[in-house]
Amino acid sequence: MSAISDVATEDVAPKGADQKTPPGVLVDGPVVDAKFLDSYIAFGLMIPGSIAALIWAFTQGIGWTEILVFVGMFSLTTAGIGVAMHRFLVHRSFRCGPIMRAFFCAIATMAVQGSVLKWVSNHRRHHLHADQPGDVHSPYYDGAGNRYVSYLKGMLHAQGGWVWDQETTDAEYYAKDILADPIAMFFTRTRWYWYGLSAVLIPGAIGYAVGGVHTMIGCVLFSGLFRSYVMTMATSLVNSVCHSDGRYGYRRYELEDGTTNELVTTILTFGEGLHNNHHRFPRDAYLSHAWYEIDINGAIILALEKLGLVHDVFRGGERSRS
Ligand SMILES: [Zn+2]
Ligand SMILES: [Zn+2]
Repeated sequence: MSAISDVATEDVAPKGADQKTPPGVLVDGPVVDAKFLDSYIAFGLMIPGSIAALIWAFTQGIGWTEILVFVGMFSLTTAGIGVAMHRFLVHRSFRCGPIMRAFFCAIATMAVQGSVLKWVSNHRRHHLHADQPGDVHSPYYDGAGNRYVSYLKGMLHAQGGWVWDQETTDAEYYAKDILADPIAMFFTRTRWYWYGLSAVLIPGAIGYAVGGVHTMIGCVLFSGLFRSYVMTMATSLVNSVCHSDGRYGYRRYELEDGTTNELVTTILTFGEGLHNNHHRFPRDAYLSHAWYEIDINGAIILALEKLGLVHDVFRGGERSRS
């Protein structure tokens, strides 16, 4: 077990804010205001939409159309976060041409987890300060760098509370490549259209085409808004469960962070739950180090490579292990 394993049970949390905010973190100004506005609007739509979806499901019922659109959009946006946002845009695990880059930016944004610019900036800061003060969403430290006394509070912060932290990440510090990329910045500027397409318009259009207005409402609520929320919560398990320092899952590598591989999260996120492997070899496109570590996102990348749609797939960690 690493040194942080008993952090959450300590009686006294260190206080004070002197060294707590590293470079590349903004605590006020328009970027922080914009972050809160984005969070309020996105969750202000997704949470009431999810409640309405459950009421609709129990009173009106849902059919195969709603279920299939849920599964289809869940799969598309899960690959959008895993293949596109995380492995391609953050870690540059492979290369591709401009059409594929635009496609990846589109499905990454359609996950409704913030813009490409914000997600990439946050995640690079997460790796640099993993489970140390300055981490964006660690179960061990809050946004100001204060250690959590309560294990539960830490897990809730990692699972989603961090979105409401005053601190946010400076893209000028962490994501100059994204700022200089006109394709990624187009999708960053137009993110609300892609959120709307994903959470409302595409499910609604399919529902209307298949079954009229009633199915359209079911699809928007259940396969659009509820699915966006469920999918975001599934992704967030990587921040909580997969940083639980072995409480859930297992640690293949003893690193200076609390990362674990956890197989239920791995299924739900198409491979992102192999998070201890990922922190050990962050740039690898394929995260499975054993037959039972099923990395669907990695398999998608290898298939796209075979089809000639992506190239220069990075598998350095794999070579170093063999
Ligand atoms: Zn992590
Ligand atoms: Zn990563």
